Amino acid sequence: MPNISPEVEARCNDMVALRRDLHQHPELGFQETRTAGVVAERLRALGYTVCTGLGKTGVTGFLKGGRPGKTVLLRADIDALPIQEQTGAPYASQHPGAMHACGHDAHTAMALSAAEVLAKDAPALGGNLFFVFQPAEEILIGAPAMLQDGALEGVSPDTAFAVHVMNRIPVGTIAVRSGPVMTSADKLGITVRGRGGHGANPHNAVDPVVAAAQVITALQTLVSRETPPLQPAVLSITMLKAGTAFNIIPDTVEMTGTLRCFDAGLRANLLASLQRTVEGIASALRCTATVTNEFLTPAVLNDPTVTALARNVAAGVVGADKVVEWEPLTGSDDVAYFWERVPGCYAFVGSGRTDGVPSAAGHNAKFDIDESCMAIGTEFLVRAARAALQTR
Ligand SMILES: [Zn+2]
Ligand SMILES: [Zn+2]
Repeated sequence: MPNISPEVEARCNDMVALRRDLHQHPELGFQETRTAGVVAERLRALGYTVCTGLGKTGVTGFLKGGRPGKTVLLRADIDALPIQEQTGAPYASQHPGAMHACGHDAHTAMALSAAEVLAKDAPALGGNLFFVFQPAEEILIGAPAMLQDGALEGVSPDTAFAVHVMNRIPVGTIAVRSGPVMTSADKLGITVRGRGGHGANPHNAVDPVVAAAQVITALQTLVSRETPPLQPAVLSITMLKAGTAFNIIPDTVEMTGTLRCFDAGLRANLLASLQRTVEGIASALRCTATVTNEFLTPAVLNDPTVTALARNVAAGVVGADKVVEWEPLTGSDDVAYFWERVPGCYAFVGSGRTDGVPSAAGHNAKFDIDESCMAIGTEFLVRAARAALQTR
């Protein structure tokens, strides 16, 4: 059984009620006005100095301890996804087309509960608490927006923690990993230009469709032939737009896709290879091509020292045998921007069912968590914050 302190235990009912309230009122990235309002109101009532409107809908709360010391940052994301919920839960989304299908409702409720428990310590605390409630994680632009609005100005945190629920591991476990845990993400845009014409007379046209098909095939060699076999990378073409009718060769083909990897040098090489391959194949087939890329977020890199501390804390909460050494994920999270500035550990709290029924994965319309994970996540955040403030 997990080791949950009476002070966290006492807040569980409120925490579950809050999570269900947020679940019923999901808000998409940069539209989290109700959620941000709930967060700000609760933090103010606990005595935190609150800043709102950071990166549109982000909220921070700062609480000075009774004695000077370090500052610990605890971050939660608050946004939902554009999914129509199909769980049938009594607390299902009341907003058509929006759903907390990634557990950010639980992250918000856990962080607020941790803020409450830790606020009671504040007079005796050596050091300061800094909570970050970040919008628009799902579109990977909330963290840079908050930083651009000066979210960390005048705070300079020493250590940071965040948790994400994870249905792939059972409730009662915590996954911790040092180093790379989530990939960088680039959004790619490729346009192949030919010259349109009659579908029956391809020799009088320059067909961008055939060129685009070969571009897509050739791009498969970037990971298989140009990436060192022991370095992970993903390149996916996910959207293809061309043409208007069965008998018209179009002028252009447009594609989008994504590039994910852990290593900044590998990313630079792959982007250069992408450009070379697309332009080269297009040119061989008499077309021209342009490639654009939008760098969404760097890889999430967990600091080794902070992760060692987090691993100890996790073992204290769930037992050393329930601390899972997690594989790196090819998903991305813009918490990376905070981790670039503050040594941090992003941990995954097991939220999967333990009754043998498979849990739906994140971003699925049937996603739900085993809510008992929330006491574990809160206990982890509280203990991690205290431990980080005690380190010299
Ligand atoms: Zn997500
Ligand atoms: Zn998420």
